[in-house]
Amino acid sequence: MLRLSELRLPLGHAPEALLPAIRARLGLREGELLGHVLVRRAHDARKKSAIVMVYTVDLDLADEAAVLARFPGDPNVRPRPETDYRYVTRAAPGESRRPVVVGAGPCGLFAGLILARMGFRPIILDRGKVVRERTKDTWSLWRRRELQPESNVQFGEGGAGTFSDGKLWSQVKDPRHLGRKVLTEFVAAGAPAEILTEAHPHIGTFRLVSMVEAMRRTIEDLGGEYRWQTRVEDVELMTRPDGTRRLAALHLSTGERLAAEAVVLAIGHSARDTFAMLHERGVHVEAKPFSIGVRIEHPQSWIDRARFGACARHPDLGAAAYTLSHHCRNARTVYSFCMCPGGRVVAATSEEGRVVTNGMSQYSRAEFNANSGLVVGIDPERDYPGHPLAGIALQRELEARAFAAGGGDYSAPAQTVGDLLAGRPSAALGTVAPSYKPGVTPTDLAECLPPFVIEAFREALPVFGRQIANYDHPDAVMTGVETRTSSPVRIRRGADFQSINVAGLFPAGEGAGYAGGILSAAIDGIKVAEAVGLALAGEEAPA
Ligand code: FAD
Repeated sequence: MLRLSELRLPLGHAPEALLPAIRARLGLREGELLGHVLVRRAHDARKKSAIVMVYTVDLDLADEAAVLARFPGDPNVRPRPETDYRYVTRAAPGESRRPVVVGAGPCGLFAGLILARMGFRPIILDRGKVVRERTKDTWSLWRRRELQPESNVQFGEGGAGTFSDGKLWSQVKDPRHLGRKVLTEFVAAGAPAEILTEAHPHIGTFRLVSMVEAMRRTIEDLGGEYRWQTRVEDVELMTRPDGTRRLAALHLSTGERLAAEAVVLAIGHSARDTFAMLHERGVHVEAKPFSIGVRIEHPQSWIDRARFGACARHPDLGAAAYTLSHHCRNARTVYSFCMCPGGRVVAATSEEGRVVTNGMSQYSRAEFNANSGLVVGIDPERDYPGHPLAGIALQRELEARAFAAGGGDYSAPAQTVGDLLAGRPSAALGTVAPSYKPGVTPTDLAECLPPFVIEAFREALPVFGRQIANYDHPDAVMTGVETRTSSPVRIRRGADFQSINVAGLFPAGEGAGYAGGILSAAIDGIKVAEAVGLALAGEEAPA
């Protein structure tokens, strides 16, 4: 098949307009085009007055070689790349060693699924509960201010992204098209098929819940096993005759000692107790950069108008998203993070006495406000030197300050953009109603964030206001604190995907510092599952 990309049609074109556009672009005569498959659909809204739809299509042609020869060197007319996924190994018949996967977030789920499909029968452990029970516990914080430290937005089946916007794109390099494998498995588990073709697919919270249940059934049908409310509390290591160390067993909160030869550690960025335990046991853990800030909210209609002008709310465009970045005079970069169109700000702490924000939405993205993280990058050298876990200590301090500033009852501190720019605490909020539940307390966000963050916001907000009208509107509201943007640590691994100083331990996903977001965590889960499979099968990784 031949792949044609960058095919541009006007917004609102009739569906029948696609085929003539393909024929015209390639100069095809009647009968030359035998069929087509839509690969990708995006929009280009850089010119608000002339928004266009941009397509990539795979074409079945009577004479593909002749058409290719007519477009030598055209980067948008190429043979279709091979995107099918191939398993790298299979478990030997009667294989009795069972890999263990710690964490049932996107990384652990995909590691478990791929291992199960290769014939290894993984045991998947998670400290949290199955997704329906976990949903109730998560709502208990949002509705009744009651936090369950082991069952919340961060912990439990589906991992951190379950109550989210379900954005499914990533900037990671993906030469093997593993992202395609992830999306295909999601569709098999009940996601809408359009995620395979949309340039910026999302699924929203509601569908994610039933999808992780469907994936669980698949893994169990393949011989995998889940254990819920089972926290890894310790790792038992042994020293080999050559002085190197390898994993011998896991010690679980149930009191069990689980002997294990290969363990995927997909514990997410909030497993602070587990990071501390690993560091104490001498597993190589190092500090890494992450970002801190707030969630900012505007009415979605402001963002739609600013991005799409007169075409705002056009059915082919949906709710508008944005990406912003500004490098400040104080050498800090402010950027938008995990923008959720038509969604809400959620309470995302997993520890008592702390307040953390994040964002989610439903598939329809129909709620009143747009929200986004507005964060500033920080790094160990400048901001939390001296100890591998110092970033966690900083997160905890900021989250505790936010808890206190919010009033000590899981309300979150909030401030209007107008007050932040004027350098005064908010005594009341304006026309933009914050969506955070269980509620917000108008205050001064400078109580919870370092001065350089506030200073950077003051410089960046007017700049962003010139890119998106009303972004710096005085009534736009900021709710804090956003501290769990990515992992504050990396559990370093080698080329074989194993910890650089403990064999048998495969650090994976966001918590280990190798992913950021649902899709990249899932892709990393596939890669690590392949490495585990090859290690158990005694094979080398393919070059
Ligand atoms: P996690 O999903 O964090 O999963 C880790 C799992 O490990 C958890 O289930 C936890 O219970 C378990 N665990 C931890 N410690 C132990 C232990 N000691 N023993 C046993 N189990 C343990 N990303 C996007 O791409 N798009 C979005 O729209 C998006 N929205 C988000 C919204 C919210 C509210 C949040 C919190 C995150 C969002 N993210 C989003 C980020 C995304 O969820 C994460 O990047 C992703 O979930 C990381 O996957 P993971 O599998 O590496 O870790």
